[in-house]
Amino acid sequence: MARGDFHLHSTASDGTLPPADVVALAASRGVEVMALTDHDTTAGVAEAQAAGVAHGVEVIAGIEISTDLADGGDAHLLGYFADAADEALQAQLERYRTGRAERGREILRKLEGLGFPLAWERVTAIAGRAAVGRPHVARAMVEAGYIDNVSLAFDHYLFTGGPADAPRKKLPPAEAVALIRDAGGVAVLAHPRYLPDPPAAIAMLAAAGLHGIEVYYKDHGPEEIARFGQLAATHHLVPTGGSDYHGTKQVEHLPGDLPLPSDAVDAFLSFAQREWSQHPSGVSE
Ligand SMILES: [Zn+2]
Ligand SMILES: [Zn+2]
Repeated sequence: MARGDFHLHSTASDGTLPPADVVALAASRGVEVMALTDHDTTAGVAEAQAAGVAHGVEVIAGIEISTDLADGGDAHLLGYFADAADEALQAQLERYRTGRAERGREILRKLEGLGFPLAWERVTAIAGRAAVGRPHVARAMVEAGYIDNVSLAFDHYLFTGGPADAPRKKLPPAEAVALIRDAGGVAVLAHPRYLPDPPAAIAMLAAAGLHGIEVYYKDHGPEEIARFGQLAATHHLVPTGGSDYHGTKQVEHLPGDLPLPSDAVDAFLSFAQREWSQHPSGVSE
């Protein structure tokens, strides 16, 4: 079990546990330092940080931003320690959330065409305070009795490019890196294994100012850790890791269940401290 976990989701985006419960779960599993990295929103961070104080867990402000690579595929950028009051950051996140709602409605139109009508109000109720995403639609499908479980809903209808999927307008990844950096944040490439051409994307992002990559992603084995560790070293990027916990799947890596060594936790935190304190508007903690 790792003592650091820098990639966790809550009900502020597409996770199933409220931010405070994610922190409590992480604490119960021995996590000492974590980041809440909900998709396109920092709305859960304050609640998570308050829970962190109660549970003795250091909670770092985080976010995960989805971007489109020029040659297809999408790259997810994690931002840590960014200033939540940064206007450019919040304006961009607001545009993302509007785009998600439009996409959610398009997915429902497609499902209706496939013979699975769902009420928009029901899907937004399931989403709660989060912007509607495919996991919420999948849960509504299960609830309506159209399919047995969320995984099957994705496997058959909602997978990327699937019959009920709809595209969403996203930023180019270099712009997301700039957005995070300009808000005083540390920019890290999430789950590099899912990129179509990881070495090319990492080289491009490193040139755009990327700070780190998730060398120790939840299910990376020794080979992937060596491969991405080498790429990180080549481009002078700091290695990090996360469980990407959502609480949506029947079998899932829980908080702290990731191959992140203790010295990598310390190295990432001291790197972030340096980057953060160098930012012109940076407030040292
Ligand atoms: Zn992701
Ligand atoms: Zn994630």
